Amino acid sequence: INPVQLLGQIKALERIADMKSRLHEINSELHNVNRVLENMARLDGLTQIPNRRSFDERIDIEIARCFRNQSPLSLMICDIDCFKQYNDTYGHLAGDTALKKVAKALEDSFHRATDLVARYGGEEFVVLLPDTHVKDAHRMTEAMLKAVSDLAIPHKASKAVDTVSISIGVASANGEEQLDKAQLIERADEALYQAKETGRNQAVLSNKEKCHE
Ligand code: GH3
Ligand code: MG
Ligand code: MG
Repeated sequence: INPVQLLGQIKALERIADMKSRLHEINSELHNVNRVLENMARLDGLTQIPNRRSFDERIDIEIARCFRNQSPLSLMICDIDCFKQYNDTYGHLAGDTALKKVAKALEDSFHRATDLVARYGGEEFVVLLPDTHVKDAHRMTEAMLKAVSDLAIPHKASKAVDTVSISIGVASANGEEQLDKAQLIERADEALYQAKETGRNQAVLSNKEKCHE
């Protein structure tokens, strides 16, 4: 045995062991960064609540579960009232601030881990409530309307009330009738349209749900 050669080999093995452990650390750092990036990709930049992509992914899963388990699924579409006038009156920056506050108020109105409140786009939000019957969803809209009203954000140009308010359309699937994503969204949208047409600052159930309630 040549002691110089042996020492060299030991040193080389030590270096390999060091490199392996550094590689392991880098891998785990990369894994963490990827997780953060994935979460960011599902969050809305302005309001920091889940975004449209997040909703699109979840609704497919929940509709499938609804039919598999014959469990109810409720969907709400919420839209800020006269928000164009709000921007025109108070400026776009104030509009952004109001949007953030409304998003937080809506998110804080729900507590189940499976409930999802997401920004659908512009000044619209969607709420997806698995295992929630239309009656319970309807009851929850009262808390949502109150939470937004309690923000007391002045909106003197609104056609509804003199503070920022929202209108809500509610639709539900009960697991019996075959209903696809587009139909459920369309029903909630129609109900939202009704809410707007009949005065705003209120929730309206889709016509289908009115029959079943
Ligand atoms: P309605 O009560 O019928 O919903 O009336 P509305 O004025 O809210 O509806 P409309 O669709 O005409 O206008 C939506 C406005 O929302 C227009 C747009 O400038 C504003 N908006 C959408 N996204 C944002 C945003 O990220 N920030 C701000 N400040 N405003 C936004
Ligand atoms: Mg809108
Ligand atoms: Mg609006």
